[in-house]
Amino acid sequence: MSRVEDIEYFSDTLKALQLLQQLGYELFVVTNQSGVGRGYFSLENVYVIHKQLQNDLREFKLTAFKDFAICPHSPDDACECRKPSGKMITDLMEKHHINPDLSYMVGDKLIDAEAGMNAGIQGIIIRQSTTSDFPFFKTLLEFANSLKK
Ligand SMILES: [Zn+2]
Repeated sequence: MSRVEDIEYFSDTLKALQLLQQLGYELFVVTNQSGVGRGYFSLENVYVIHKQLQNDLREFKLTAFKDFAICPHSPDDACECRKPSGKMITDLMEKHHINPDLSYMVGDKLIDAEAGMNAGIQGIIIRQSTTSDFPFFKTLLEFANSLKK
């Protein structure tokens, strides 16, 4: 995704983010953007998208994402940061003094959960079904609800 007008939210995603924040979680974005490395779009495009996400969150009375970690490399670059590497996550945890035991890496792909595992935090997959051993939920809201005590 490289265009602001292509941003779409699942109906209950913002509600899920709101619930996570009410539960005291800080939100981070950890993203592979190999389209940059492949020359499909620029890092500037990615920043524009992230800025829009921040604006959208504020518009919905949410706290903005605390930080973003971007891997702009293509798989051929053999970089250290590209998920499923845990490096982007460990860097964020170090920078913001995040407790790994109280954190989750949530994504819709196996590599997201694997990146969490590689960073020493619990990986969660959001999709309709999965054959992996990671815990999965059908929606982000379902996951957020599972954290309520
Ligand atoms: Zn990278």
